[in-house]
Amino acid sequence: MSAVGSARGWRMVRVAVVGSGIGGLSAAIALRARGFQVDVYDQAGELSEIGAGVSLGGNGMRVLDALGLGKAVRDVSANLHRIEFHHWLSGDIFYEHPMGAWYEQRFGGPFLGIHRADFHHILISAYDGEPHLGRRCVAVHESPDGVELEFADGSAAGADVVVGADGLRSAVRTHVDRSDEAVFSAMSCFRGLVPVDRVPGGDTFGLTFFLGPNRHLVAYPVRGGELINFVAYVPDPEWTLESWSARCAPEEAVAAFEGWSPVVTALLASSEETGRWALYDREPLRNWSTGRVTLLGDAAHPMLPHAGQGTNQAIEDAAALAAYLSNPQLSVSEALRSYEHLRKARTRQIQLGSRANATCFQVPDGPPADERNARLRNLPQMVGWIHEYDVYAAMATGSEA
Ligand SMILES: Cc1cc2nc3c(=O)[nH]c(=O)nc-3n(C[C@H](O)[C@H](O)[C@H](O)COP(=O)(O)OP(=O)(O)OC[C@H]3O[C@@H](n4cnc5c(N)ncnc54)[C@H](O)[C@@H]3O)c2cc1C
Repeated sequence: MSAVGSARGWRMVRVAVVGSGIGGLSAAIALRARGFQVDVYDQAGELSEIGAGVSLGGNGMRVLDALGLGKAVRDVSANLHRIEFHHWLSGDIFYEHPMGAWYEQRFGGPFLGIHRADFHHILISAYDGEPHLGRRCVAVHESPDGVELEFADGSAAGADVVVGADGLRSAVRTHVDRSDEAVFSAMSCFRGLVPVDRVPGGDTFGLTFFLGPNRHLVAYPVRGGELINFVAYVPDPEWTLESWSARCAPEEAVAAFEGWSPVVTALLASSEETGRWALYDREPLRNWSTGRVTLLGDAAHPMLPHAGQGTNQAIEDAAALAAYLSNPQLSVSEALRSYEHLRKARTRQIQLGSRANATCFQVPDGPPADERNARLRNLPQMVGWIHEYDVYAAMATGSEA
């Protein structure tokens, strides 16, 4: 247990984390590393992650290195050696830039593609405990002295601090702010993993974009380059199902990209299992915390995936939350306020930027695409503030974004 200063003197702090996704587990690991007693609760009946990839940038890797997880993560990832933007029809590259060593030198950490299941496995091992499964949080009861979580199975659990890491549809968020709804983007994505030897030129893939009118595709290797992960975005106001387990036939994805470069359609056709996911986010939240309850990751700032930052921001959150809560100068509520203050401006900007990226990636050919392509030449400068960010340095200087 950890002794943490409070307005009323020193006392022991028990933290309950709701959600065992990447955000919740990162927070639990960071809190345990600082000596807190942590319990993680998840609605899922068993631990699993979906068959899909996720990208980790220098900003997220800085935290994972500090938590001692950097080597394990690097060992199972693919280091993305370059970024390439291709024309949707011709397949021609209209912008490319080295990543790999260049990225690491510029931003202080690598840019990796990792299979979510591999990453989750590393986090669960590092958490070194058993999350309480089958515990769907349905209500949060907060008093000046503590918090009680109420679960759908009728059980309850007490804690001094509650961290809502329960994703886009967070139950804990409704305790903090009842007012907002998830915002449907009217866009969904097809997702899949393809063995690299089935992808024409797959062994040369870095972070690869194909951009076209109303659609785009992102692909990159994971698992040391064994698999190519793809996410293909299409407008669809009818498909509203947001579920990692929703499946569709690969032919549906191929049909949605009919007429595109054969590289794209061959990739989509080669997927053994194609998932389909409707994309939602929320408006930036005004307040994340009450006296003893706060939010983290998608529960706090769900964002569209077009900046590849949802996971990275959840990992940054975890580092900041653990550091502030363990600061003996701060009471619990002061620690949560400091955490929120540090994180809010940055995550808000990335939430809104992710929305803007969707529009920018899918402009029609002609002058709008030409203008976008010209702007892409400044890509390293445009995204530098996201990738070079050092959450530990930001806490030391108290700077918000
Ligand atoms: C298509 C797509 C591609 C993406 N690509 C990237 C990328 O390349 N890079 C990147 O950084 N991010 C990416 N993201 C974003 C990233 O997936 C999310 O931001 C990240 O997974 C959020 O993690 P989280 O732990 O906050 O929430 P989640 O992963 O949603 O985890 C929430 C957990 O809470 C549990 N839970 C929910 N409700 C309750 C409840 N009431 N009680 C108990 N438990 C509950 C759930 O079972 C789950 O385990 C992508 C997202 C999408 C949709």
